[in-house]
Amino acid sequence: MVPVTDSALRVALLGCGVVGSQVARLLLEKPEDLRSRVGQQLELVGIGVRHPDVPRPGIDSALLTSDTAELVTRADIVVEVMGGIEPARGLILSALAHGASVVTANKALLAAHGPQLYQAAQQAGVDLYFEAAVAGAIPIIRPLRESLVGDEILSVMGIVNGTTNYVLDRMTTEGMSFSQALVEAQALGYAEADPTADVESYDAAAKASILASLAFHTEVLGAAVHREGITMITPEDIEAANDLGYVIKLLAIATLVEDEVEQVSVRVHPAMVPLDHPLAIVRGAYNAIFVESRNAGRLMFSGPGAGGAPTGSAVMGDLVTVARNRLRGTAGPPLTPYTNRPVAPIAEARTRYYISFTVRDQPGVLAQVASVFAKHGVSISTVRQTALADRTDTARLGIMTHTARDGAIRDAITQLRTLTVVAEPIRSMRVEGH
Ligand code: NAP
Repeated sequence: MVPVTDSALRVALLGCGVVGSQVARLLLEKPEDLRSRVGQQLELVGIGVRHPDVPRPGIDSALLTSDTAELVTRADIVVEVMGGIEPARGLILSALAHGASVVTANKALLAAHGPQLYQAAQQAGVDLYFEAAVAGAIPIIRPLRESLVGDEILSVMGIVNGTTNYVLDRMTTEGMSFSQALVEAQALGYAEADPTADVESYDAAAKASILASLAFHTEVLGAAVHREGITMITPEDIEAANDLGYVIKLLAIATLVEDEVEQVSVRVHPAMVPLDHPLAIVRGAYNAIFVESRNAGRLMFSGPGAGGAPTGSAVMGDLVTVARNRLRGTAGPPLTPYTNRPVAPIAEARTRYYISFTVRDQPGVLAQVASVFAKHGVSISTVRQTALADRTDTARLGIMTHTARDGAIRDAITQLRTLTVVAEPIRSMRVEGH
């Protein structure tokens, strides 16, 4: 266990970019307030960066160093906001081995190596806190790790990537194409020059893995999360969803699948959400997470999911907490992956779908289509038939399924393709939030 100290707590900051510069500002701005809240002074002893010669406004250049390996050995608390896997992973392990507590915002690292890092922190008897790694300023890690730990989480469903929410929102409200909305998001600084991590859902999958691990007391790595991006969404999909009373959102979803073996289903994909669902009204680059638990019921957490100051706020909350823990000679609650629930393949997820396609307008077609769904054990909730302009021999069918196995619905779609009365393209999208 960490010894109680009478002297200032030494804080090393790794990174001084979008987030790190704000953490440095917050650390240096009101030191007396921080001292009162922590119970001891927090002393910034160094800032690790790639380019120490670049001046940083408001920061004493003597604090800057590229020798991050040395810096972490002379700190009580290391704040890692440099990003990436290496050297961040090695530096955090070194800090923990030296008995330092660690605060990180690095979701990519936790999604890839979380179990190793949590274990190292536990062995060293120090804290590893990571509130800022999911949904920026929004408190969601601590609610899952502490406030709701006596309850039973049933599902976590959230909008955890601001870039894709902005793009989908502009497609919905302005009728833009995906590429038009993306170009606008890049011009406004909401999307990176290389938007792959956001639009292909790698970022959201990393966050989903962290949320699922905490909610269901198991280890879920980012690579195990089923992931679909938003690049294939068309204005027609958005319009069709709107006609039915839905909006398309990129959702990160973690639920329990209770078959013979209890499994965790973790997935990130676009989905149609009813307009009256709390997640439907999350606009622009905001994030929101909807948690359902057995006893607390439905809880919604929302706010700014990124940005230097909002993310810096979450980092500072962790910093004050781990500093308080050190002063009391204790560490916060450990992670408890005791259930060892495996991650279910996407085919085992339970969901609804809306499927639309063109059919020949002739007797018996509906019966043929219905029999395909019946054969796969998928029951149909509603069927919508729309006449096509200029065509009297064909019609567009829209089928809303009830909840079924994802794999069964996709098998039914594959078989629909073999019917001579059905013409491509068959469009399909999952429907969530009922
Ligand atoms: P950023 O603006 O790119 O800043 C990265 C900082 O780390 C820079 O100061 C850079 O030094 C330093 N750095 C990078 N590699 C280094 C290395 N090998 N050695 C020493 N210093 C190194 O990144 P950011 O946006 O602040 O993000 C930081 C972390 O916070 C990431 O894990 C990210 O996922 C997470 N996060 C960010 C946000 C957000 O809104 N930006 C929100 C939530 C979580 P130089 O300045 O010299 O280049």
